[in-house]
Order: sequence, then structure tokens, then C-alpha cells
Amino acid sequence: MSHIHVINLPLKIIIGSNVLDNINEIIESIGLNKITKIGMVTGRKTYEIAGARIEGELTEKNISVKTWIVESSTINTAEEIVSEAKNNEVKLMIGVGGGKAIDIAKYVAYKIDRDVVNIPTAASHDGIASPFASLTGLDKPMSILTKTPRAIIADIDIISKAPSRLLKAGVGDLLGKLVAVRDWRLAHRLRGEYYGEYAAKLALLSAKHVIKYSELIASNSIEGVRVVVEGLISSGVAMCIAGSSRPASGSEHLFSHALEILKPGRALHGEKVALGTIIMLYIYGSPLWRRVRRIMKKIGLPTTAREIGIEPDVIVEALTIAHKIRPDRYTVLGETGLSKEAAWRILRETGIID
Ligand code: ZN
Repeated sequence: MSHIHVINLPLKIIIGSNVLDNINEIIESIGLNKITKIGMVTGRKTYEIAGARIEGELTEKNISVKTWIVESSTINTAEEIVSEAKNNEVKLMIGVGGGKAIDIAKYVAYKIDRDVVNIPTAASHDGIASPFASLTGLDKPMSILTKTPRAIIADIDIISKAPSRLLKAGVGDLLGKLVAVRDWRLAHRLRGEYYGEYAAKLALLSAKHVIKYSELIASNSIEGVRVVVEGLISSGVAMCIAGSSRPASGSEHLFSHALEILKPGRALHGEKVALGTIIMLYIYGSPLWRRVRRIMKKIGLPTTAREIGIEPDVIVEALTIAHKIRPDRYTVLGETGLSKEAAWRILRETGIID
């Protein structure tokens, strides 16, 4: 056989206002009502916002719930939960929260070979619908292939109450697709890497979607929240279709990962990705970098070293090491990356440093 491509997609995506009020109906509609033991990963705040409610409703239906409240998404925490989930004979995982809880839930589901349902409480990254999880404490800060979520339940009312900085970061993660898809095409042309046009177009669409509705998003309206959630889910589905994170992660993500290594936790993932997007579009010679920067300013995403709170020399350093983060992922940074001089010049020309 020449090329067999298997695509795992989420079975159900439920987006809307107060959808969590009907959590039991939803559980039934995806055929999970016969499950007796559910494992839930959530955060401290997100447990108060949504986790406790879900736990209560499930318990009322005689479904036993084992809850883990996590503060970080380290591989060690994830592995501890894997063994406890095995001991507790958990039959389904639920991730309730932002990035960390969802990433851990996906990883645990994968390790115990059960389904996972994601219930995001913020729209800050596109892991909501993708099979990829980023855990810390691994050799390299890259995402690992886990399991495509069986369902995604996005309660717009809950998500709209999350700090607006998280939503903006979600926009940043989506703007990155403008670069990721260019890098994918480049790798296809130069390296003969598999390229799926449909997945690429879908990822691009998610970026164009937030650009088109940037006014709406900037206005902090509930419709704007919905646009971002839809974009993040599309991007996740694009990864499901491609079978890799290629359509959603290129040199802008390598740059973000490099910053994370140099200054862990200094800015949000999507904020770093957005900054990387300006830089990489500039390197591509695309005039789009100015438009992206304008949109970022309008939405309130950091566009300078000062705003993102990272020293200029650290940003330069990140740019010069980004190509080494994941050598198998060919991008516009090439095999040798940028020199320090080039990095300084690009950062000045894009107004990131003055
Ligand atoms: Zn991302």
C-alpha cells in the first residue's frame, strides 16, 4: 500500500452559552452515561468555576468521580495521575480548565487507553481540540502526541469570565498559523515533507477568522469569545487531520519554546507565539507582519520586549537558538538559524526593541 492516512476527529463539539448546565444530557448524548468511574483533572480556580459543578452533577447520576487538582503540567504529575487512574479503574478522563489540566487529562487518557472529554474554562491555546499535549520536565519543551478528545464542551459564558489576557493569548496562538503554514509549505518544497493542503487551509482559516473579527474580539464581547473558541477548535482539528502539529506550529512556536527555556513562565504561550509571528513573517519578507502587529496592538497583545517583560538580549538569544529546539521541524530559520547581528537588526526593524 502506498499511503494510508488515518484521521481521528473529535466525535462531538458543543459550543454555546451555559452548555454546562446540561452536562448530564451531553454525557448521555456521547454515550458515556454507562461509565461508572470518571477521572477529572482540574486546577484550583477552575475547580471552583466549573469542576465542582461537574463533579456534583455526575455524582448525582451515580457516576463516581476521582478528582485531581493540579498546579503544574509536569511529566511527573501526569505520571502519578496515570498510576492512580489505573488503580482507581478510571474509564474516562475529563479535563476541566486551561492548558495544564487539559494537557494532563489528554496524556493520562492516552496512557490508560481511555477517552478524554475537554471542558475548557479559558480560550488561551489550541490544545483544546488537538491530540497534542505539552508537558514540562521533558528533555525538550515540545508537544507529545496523545489522544484526540472524544468531545469538547466549550461553555462560552464560563470562558468569557476568564481573565481577558488568556483570550488575547488564544488569538496570539492562532495568529501563529500564518507562519506555521508557510513553514510547512517550505519544508514540503525543500524537503519533500508530507503536506496536506486541506489541513493547512483549515489552520490558516483559524488565523484569518480572528483577523477578520479582531474588532469584535477587542471589544471583549461574548461574540468575540466565540470567534476565538471556534478558531482554536479549527486549529486543533487541523492537527487531527494532519496527524501532526505541523499546520499549527512552526518557527514562531520554536521561538516561543526557546523563550520558555531561557525565561520559564515569563509570558503566556500565545503572547510569545504572537511576537514570534511578527518576527518570522518579517523574515519571510511578507508585508503581513505590519498588519499582524497592528491587530496585536488593537487587541492588546504585547508587541515589544518591554511589554512582554523579557529583556532584549534574551529575545535575541531565543532567536539564535530557536532552530535547535526541534531539528526535525524544518522552518524559515533553516539549519543554522540566525546570527546575533541579524537577530538584533530584525528585532529593531520590527519595533520589538528600540
Ligand atoms: Zn500553540
